[in-house]
Parts: sequence; structure tokens; C-alpha cells
Amino acid sequence: MNTTASPKTPLPVPSGDRLEERSRRARTEPMSVLPLGDGLYEVESASDHTYLVDLEGGRCTCPDHVFRNARCKHIRRVAIEITEGRTPPPGEIAVPCHDCDVAVFVDEDDSEPCYCEEHTIWPGDTVVDRETGDRLTVVDVSVLRADAVRVDAAGCTVAEYGTNENYEPDVPVVGAIYPHATVARHGVVPESLKVYVFPRTRLEKEP
Ligand SMILES: [Zn+2]
Ligand SMILES: [Zn+2]
Repeated sequence: MNTTASPKTPLPVPSGDRLEERSRRARTEPMSVLPLGDGLYEVESASDHTYLVDLEGGRCTCPDHVFRNARCKHIRRVAIEITEGRTPPPGEIAVPCHDCDVAVFVDEDDSEPCYCEEHTIWPGDTVVDRETGDRLTVVDVSVLRADAVRVDAAGCTVAEYGTNENYEPDVPVVGAIYPHATVARHGVVPESLKVYVFPRTRLEKEP
């Protein structure tokens, strides 16, 4: 599973708080947290040791927890990072956005490509076709997969159609129109307003 660690850095200590030593070190020491799914987190400590934290079980593989049964700085760090939105809660993992490297928190069972807020597309957005460079306007973001939607005229699925073979077959499809509708005396010419269907990963949101 593709999963991303939080940046290895100290966290600010809230002013005025008289923190217990372990809570203070959970913040002041640079640690990174890698969500593994199933409520497990791998914490890399300042000294580059890695420890496995089971958050819901309140367990850690470090000596402080194993020998003293303490709620160690690693368990505290995971809890702090979840509270502050730096690390996903149990049940979710962090994956890089398909179109940039920003970490996105998603359900750990989610297998579809994920997008950050900036790269998520909505109807009305302008996108660029990576194959042709054409600009299109999105009219539907479907939950149906490219290998489950047919292109009737071609007698195959969207995933199998032409250069779509270069893209993942198991991603959702997006309906989009070219900005070239023709208005005639009796209104819009229907054929000029055709909706084309693309695998989501073939389209990139226009920056
Ligand atoms: Zn620990
Ligand atoms: Zn992104």
C-alpha cells in the first residue's frame, strides 16, 4: 500500500501549558508518523529508530512502553498528529495526490486514484486532455469505472478505447464536452454538443 509519512519535524509547544515530560518530548523531538492502516502507525524517532504504535491498543514497541508500560512519547505523538490533522485517524491512510505530491487522507480500503483539493475536478471545471492538450469542460464525474462503461459507437469499453489503453482501466470516468457547440437559427445543433467520456487519470485540472 502506497502510504505517506508526515514531515519529520518538531511541533510547536502550546504556550502556558505545563506539559508532562513525555508530552513535551512528543512535541519537541522531530518525529515522523507513517500510517500503515489497521490502526497501526510507524513512528520514526529523532535518532532514526522506528517503532510500531498500535493506537487503539495503546501499545508501542519502544523500551519505554515495553519495559515501563508507559504511555510513551511515540503514542502521544501519534495522538497529537491525528488531533492536529497531520496524520490520518485509524481507518484512513495518507496517499499522495495523483497529480501532485500533497498527502490526502483516504479510507484505507479505497483503491481509486486520490486527488488533493486543488486537483479534484467538479462539473463546470476546465480540464486538459493529456493525450491531445485539448481543453474541455467537465459535465459529469462518475463513480463508474472505465472498464465498466461502453463506447457504443466503437463496440468497446472506455478503458479499451484508442489511447485510453495508456491509462488505468479501474479508475472512474469523467464526461466532458469540447467548447465548440454550434448555435443555429433553431437553437443548438445537437451533434455539436456531444459528451465524451474519459478515464479520470487522462484529464488534468487546468491550473
Ligand atoms: Zn514508544
Ligand atoms: Zn494535487
